Amino acid sequence: MAERRRGGYFGFPLIYKILIGLVIGIIVGIAVGPAITAVKPLGDFFIRLLQMIVMPVVFFSLVVGAASISPVRGVRAGGKTIGFYIVTTVIAIAIGLALANLFKPGLGMALVGEGVAKEVTAPAMKDVFLGLIPTNPFAALATGAVLPTIVFAILLGTALSYIKGLKVPRITEASENVLRVFDGLAEAMYKMVRWILEVAPYGVFALIAVVVGTQGTKVFGPLAVVTGAVYLGLIIHYLVVYGGALRIWGLNPVRLWSGARDASITAFVTRSSSGTLPVTMRVAEENLGIDRGLYSFTLPLGATVNMDGTALYQAVCALFVANAIGMPLTIGAQMIVMLTAVLASIGTAGVPGAGAIMLLMVLQSVGLPVEAGSAVAIAYGMILGIDAILDMGRTSLNVTGDLVCTSIVAKTENMLNLDFWRGKAKAKA
Ligand code: ASP
Repeated sequence: MAERRRGGYFGFPLIYKILIGLVIGIIVGIAVGPAITAVKPLGDFFIRLLQMIVMPVVFFSLVVGAASISPVRGVRAGGKTIGFYIVTTVIAIAIGLALANLFKPGLGMALVGEGVAKEVTAPAMKDVFLGLIPTNPFAALATGAVLPTIVFAILLGTALSYIKGLKVPRITEASENVLRVFDGLAEAMYKMVRWILEVAPYGVFALIAVVVGTQGTKVFGPLAVVTGAVYLGLIIHYLVVYGGALRIWGLNPVRLWSGARDASITAFVTRSSSGTLPVTMRVAEENLGIDRGLYSFTLPLGATVNMDGTALYQAVCALFVANAIGMPLTIGAQMIVMLTAVLASIGTAGVPGAGAIMLLMVLQSVGLPVEAGSAVAIAYGMILGIDAILDMGRTSLNVTGDLVCTSIVAKTENMLNLDFWRGKAKAKA
């Protein structure tokens, strides 16, 4: 359906309005300083709108998506996606480790403290897997538990498509009706996402202004090297790893970066992969031409488990903490960081600051437990002080990575409308 052409404010492309909000927010944040927290409710307003729509978007589109893709193809595409997610995460950690070895953040700080080591136990593998099965799917939906909701929605969609093929007219008709209802609801959710995005420029302004106003100056000083190493790593991963992977599979990286912009910026300011999910799904549909049967599954999954930016950040910060207390990590210990950072990033929830909590697990794995009063705790506290700044970049990479992997898998599965990548199809309003 063609949308009416509008002039003036509403005719001005949204992405420019969002960018203007971002720039003005940074300027105002620097100028006003901590008092800028007065505009925080405006940022919260935007985030609440996104949170409101996350679970309905995931659920309705995934049911429709699962019903539209054959189980064999679904399993194959799912396997490829998970493989991609893991490989890119490992590369991100390698980049983080390499840069931290090069720049040696924290070296020479020699923090001291007191305190004793304490055991922290990670959740058992079997509990992680069992947790995927919702004992009550409605409770999973209501509490925003994404993974169990994904499992139930896929089963429901698959069952609906299966019974649609039965030779019983009553059942076929009933399942078609149900799917039509879900389809209509999914479309309505997308419409609401577009409305919510009209608020984005103001939300973006407020969110960035508050972070810059309250934490901006702290990134200078001893933490400048950490911030620099993390951001340099994120940029290398974004340009070289994602750009290279897209090129290998014959996709134009510039097209991806520009199509994904709304999601990358929303992730940057909201610091939440889950919160950004409605926007990520919208750009997959409207800017990148990815089949709904694929992205309705891979993007919610990616927002929950694929966190390249978080993994990279955890690698740099683990080395920073070790250096800062005067106990640089050996190569063997860095290999342990690699392994635990993969697991920690998978276990990190897509919400602000979650990666910093999971960093505790990485530190613990190399004998650096955070104990009250210990030197490790002091170093960790320093990083926490600028977490919002680091979280913005890593979340943006996390979300962009989900779109990169999904685009590539879509290409290999013939689930990508290549017209979108040749500039023939215009993004819908
Ligand atoms: N905020 C990140 C995300 O939502 C997770 C993290 O804290 O690293 O992707």
